[in-house]
Amino acid sequence: MMRKQRLFTPGPTSVPPEVLLAMAAPMTHHRQAAFEEVFVRVSEKLKSVFQTSSPVVILSGSGTAAMEAAVVNLLSAGDKAISVNGGKFGERWGLIGKAHGVEMNVIDIEWGTAVAPARIEEGLKHNPDTKAVFTTLNETSTTGLTDVKAIAEITANTDAVLVVDAVSAVCADELRMDDWGIDVVVAGSQKALMLPPGLAFAALGPKARAAMAHSTLPKFYLSFEKALSNLEKKTTPFTPAVSSVIGLDRSLDMILDEGMEPLWARHRKLAEATRAGVVAMGMALFAQSPSNAATAIKLPEGFDGGVLHKKLRDEYKVTCAGGQEHLKGRIERIAHMGYYDQFDMLVVLGAVELALKELGVNVRVGEGVAAAQRYFAGE
Ligand code: PMP
Repeated sequence: MMRKQRLFTPGPTSVPPEVLLAMAAPMTHHRQAAFEEVFVRVSEKLKSVFQTSSPVVILSGSGTAAMEAAVVNLLSAGDKAISVNGGKFGERWGLIGKAHGVEMNVIDIEWGTAVAPARIEEGLKHNPDTKAVFTTLNETSTTGLTDVKAIAEITANTDAVLVVDAVSAVCADELRMDDWGIDVVVAGSQKALMLPPGLAFAALGPKARAAMAHSTLPKFYLSFEKALSNLEKKTTPFTPAVSSVIGLDRSLDMILDEGMEPLWARHRKLAEATRAGVVAMGMALFAQSPSNAATAIKLPEGFDGGVLHKKLRDEYKVTCAGGQEHLKGRIERIAHMGYYDQFDMLVVLGAVELALKELGVNVRVGEGVAAAQRYFAGE
């Protein structure tokens, strides 16, 4: 039987038809005026998305490329840096740093909780020669949100550069790079930017650009210096993912036509409605301070979440995401970042309720959908 496929994974996410069509245009060569115009245009528009007047470099690669680029362009072997392990992606900062010989001071917190900014302050006081603090705005593996604004207030008074992984948060959660005093923001294309995977971004503030001058870790393909000097010449050091950049031009128009504040407000509404739905159906939320990009449902003790995930994906063709590492089988994650509206959330909540019911979980079928609908109705 034909079944409609629906994607609710926290990356890749649904790509709007307008963007897909733009990307289907015949190939153009990147070293020519027509493409250079697009490249300059998207580079400017990205500044509005990151809320910065600093340059944003575009790398061809997934989000992790921008993370690794931040490490190798800002630091030298033996430098000290702080990271927070509160999930898979915060953990990744520690692993990348260690792989490059950086002395990582990893703050371990329970996955699903948010780091207290005071812990970063303590870490910096303990090691005043710390060169960088690596954080994760939306820890996608738990859907936990980090208070990067408060952390930026702390790093602003130190020599440490604050790097924020906003791979899954940019456009979904409020993020004001310049106003908040963040030095580097990294992101990826396949989340709320509504594109296929393949592009990575790094917005580089003045403190970060100054730190780059002292960094001696080896770099070539991921060199920010190369990317920045080429950006001044309206181009990239290497062949860019041409079709993705063209798609980005379209998706950024959609994003900026909506406007950053309304965009954040839409994500907040989708998130609040989804959270209300999850609670109303009788489930709990996993993250202590949840992001507006995705919602993690805490599944009942002893219940095998893998079965729910497979039922949704294989029977209903509603693909969400399960848990990673020790959260495997314990949570199910629903994305609402990017190309999603209120009706999408009613669909996914309905599917989750039905699947849980069929699997014998004591849920109140219809209550989750009703709660979300009442939220959207302003009741
Ligand atoms: N950081 C976060 C917060 C993410 O959600 C992801 C992707 N899930 C990454 C980093 C890594 O990005 P990628 O898989 O595109 O390399």
